[in-house]
Amino acid sequence: MYKYNKIIFDADNTLFDFDRAEATALVNTLQHFKMPAPDGLIQFYRRMNVAMWQQLDAKRITIAQLKQQRAEQIFEFVGGANTDHQTFSLHYLDELARHQFLLKSVAETLSLLSPHCDMAIITNGLARVQKPRFENSTIQPYFGALVISEEVGMAKPDPEIFAHTCDLMNWSDPKEVMMVGDNYRCDIQGAADFGMRTCWFNLRQQVHNYQDHHHEIHHFGELLGVLKN
Ligand SMILES: [Mg+2]
Repeated sequence: MYKYNKIIFDADNTLFDFDRAEATALVNTLQHFKMPAPDGLIQFYRRMNVAMWQQLDAKRITIAQLKQQRAEQIFEFVGGANTDHQTFSLHYLDELARHQFLLKSVAETLSLLSPHCDMAIITNGLARVQKPRFENSTIQPYFGALVISEEVGMAKPDPEIFAHTCDLMNWSDPKEVMMVGDNYRCDIQGAADFGMRTCWFNLRQQVHNYQDHHHEIHHFGELLGVLKN
C-alpha cells in the first residue's frame, strides 16, 4: 500500500506543537511562582532559546548552562525572581512534559499509517520532557522506539543516531527508511548523510533553495501521498 513503510519522525514541531506547549508552560510556570508575564515575553523567550540551543549545538555551552542561563534571562526580563533557577527550570520542564498538543492532522495520519508502517521517533529534546510526554500521549502505541539524544549520548545530525535507531528497529537498509522532520540540518541532512530517504516538513513555509531532501510537505497530512510514491 505504501512504497515506504519504515518511518522515523522528529518529535518537536513535527508531531508535537512545541511552540504552543512552550508558551503555555512558560506562562503557567511564572504564574506558579507568582511572577509576572509581561508583554513580549514569549517572543523574547523564543529568540533567546533558539540562540541558546544554537550555542549548545556548537558545543559552546553545556545543557546545564543552557538551563541556568535560560532561567536567569527570564528572571531579568520579568524583573526579578521568587525562586532559584533550578527550581524554576524543573517546574518549567515538568509543565512542558504535561502538554502534548499534536500538530494538525498528526493523530489521523499516524492512525492511518500505523497498520501498515513501522515507526520510530528520534528527538534532540530533553529526556525529562520527552519521556513522560510521549508515555502519556495518544500516539505512543504507534511507535516501536523513542530515541532521545540525551539518553544515547549522540544527537541529530550525527549519522550514528540514525544508525542506532535503525538497529533498534531491525532495519538493515537505510534507503528503505523515510525520515520526516522540520529541522533541515538535524533531521534532513543528518538522515541524508546516513543514506535514508527524507521528507522535509517545511511547516513555516520557508522560501528556500535547499536540495538535500527527497520530498517536501507543508502540512502533515501530505505525508500519506509522499509515502505512496
Ligand atoms: Mg523539530
